[in-house]
Amino acid sequence: MSSTELIRDPAAWQRRCTAARDGGTRIALVPTMGYLHDGHLSLMREARLRADQGGRPGLSLATIFVNPTQFGPAEDLARYPRDLDGDLAKCAAAGVDLVFAPEDPAAVYPAGFQTWVEVGEVSKGLCGERRPGHFRGVATVVAKLLGLSRPHLALFGEKDWQQLQVLRRMVLDLDMGVEVLGMPIVREPDGLAMSSRNAHLSADERVRAVAISRALEEARRRAAAGDRDPRDLAAGITRAVLAAGMRVDYAELVHPETLRPVLRAEPGTRALVAAFLGRTRLIDNVALP
Ligand code: AMP
Repeated sequence: MSSTELIRDPAAWQRRCTAARDGGTRIALVPTMGYLHDGHLSLMREARLRADQGGRPGLSLATIFVNPTQFGPAEDLARYPRDLDGDLAKCAAAGVDLVFAPEDPAAVYPAGFQTWVEVGEVSKGLCGERRPGHFRGVATVVAKLLGLSRPHLALFGEKDWQQLQVLRRMVLDLDMGVEVLGMPIVREPDGLAMSSRNAHLSADERVRAVAISRALEEARRRAAAGDRDPRDLAAGITRAVLAAGMRVDYAELVHPETLRPVLRAEPGTRALVAAFLGRTRLIDNVALP
């Protein structure tokens, strides 16, 4: 297992990454909020492979930062799970060279900070509507992490499908010159999408949580069998998730890139769900066949 170096100071991180980039090293970045699971690690393993492409060793970077600006006042910032030591061991096993984990949010948002990245339409519906300010916080911190790290490539999970579209748009619109790679959702054996927030689920909630991925699978099956009515499919998802005792935040079928509601569920249409199980909010999505 290779060793992973931890850097806590943003200026030191930026110096290190800039020197590597200026020296011609290919850099791949995986931004995370930590409490790492196999979903995160799949991104890191891919980052390792892609950084090394082209015959010379590249630099595989990960960041671990629970970004306060993407949490609403009533959200779970304070109880977000953390385990830096465990995360560093996992990063090492996944071939990460350097980890940036700022000690204090004030290092990232020092006094006087006043610049925000607002992505338009694609950040407005779904989670954007239910979590006001969330994508502004996400886009801003990712813009900062890209500026600090200067990667050639940044990897994100399709589990946060809307986030992936928001970040693709930001990188394109602001000419950030970084390749954005979306990676498939990694699931538990029963189908539940891996998430740091799954740690909050009680044993009983953990059993019921599988209803979300099952409902999405059922929508895929029905679409494949010819039911192409988005309202029908969304209603089926809602019913199944409610039946498992969850509160549905949304269940929608949208165009995969614009995230606009669709009139007909075409191949590639994305079905997205957010639901509360107790206080824990879970999200998941699939592409329809
Ligand atoms: P987070 O730590 O939740 O901010 O996630 C960091 C990155 O890992 C994001 O790009 C997520 O989309 C991605 N990710 C989280 N869970 C999964 C999963 N189950 N499968 C694939 N990627 C994931």
